Amino acid sequence: MSERLILLTNDDGLWAPGIAALAKAAAPFGRVVTVAPDRNRSAISSALSLHNILRLNEVGPERVACDGTPVDCVLLGVWEVLGRRPDWVLSGINHGFNLGEDVFYSGTVGAAFEGRLQGARAAAFSIHPGGSLDLALPWVTRFLERWETMDLPANRIWNVNFPKDEPKGFRLTGQDSRAYHDLVERRTDPRSMPYYWIGGDAGPTYAKAAGSDAEAVFEGYASVTPLRLDLGCPETLARQADFHPAFNA
Ligand code: MN
Repeated sequence: MSERLILLTNDDGLWAPGIAALAKAAAPFGRVVTVAPDRNRSAISSALSLHNILRLNEVGPERVACDGTPVDCVLLGVWEVLGRRPDWVLSGINHGFNLGEDVFYSGTVGAAFEGRLQGARAAAFSIHPGGSLDLALPWVTRFLERWETMDLPANRIWNVNFPKDEPKGFRLTGQDSRAYHDLVERRTDPRSMPYYWIGGDAGPTYAKAAGSDAEAVFEGYASVTPLRLDLGCPETLARQADFHPAFNA
């Protein structure tokens, strides 16, 4: 078997400590090539740059900065930098959790989905904002040693979140749900004009449902959540008998 080709990216930017940690963990598993945004592009989901040009800047051996989004990085990584499909696309380690519905906003998760769409095995990694990358690192290694033993169908990725302290183990989890408080904050600028700040100060409240990603990390486990890109709703599709009389009568 030829050497495993591993494409690394993130949404916190090429100079974030999390991607350096991920590169360290990935190194023993193959040839690691990093293509990552040249600045923080968090919460940009799966955005593609369709209306502006993109540049690549090689800042070190197999380390390339891109002025686009995380998904742009994966596309340019695969089609320009590598010139072929990588075996693995690893995204992260994000500074801050990607739990519950945050996976929809996350550029970290968006990049992993793009990796999967490009035919690679793909995972997104995130850690509690006060967590230690040094403590998480051996657990990234453990995950990478084992994840090829479990295949996911097409359009699925692994979403891995590490708790604040040394993980007690891995848990296979579902996606929780969370509520943000004071999501849009209105403030006043020095010229008395209003401006707005999204995010609020209170932070999210997670439901911490049994078996969920949030429950796992708050109980001290590393959460491993399989996610699907197809958002279809099989339980509603099964209700053809209800749909037709209601919509076509
Ligand atoms: Mn981020």
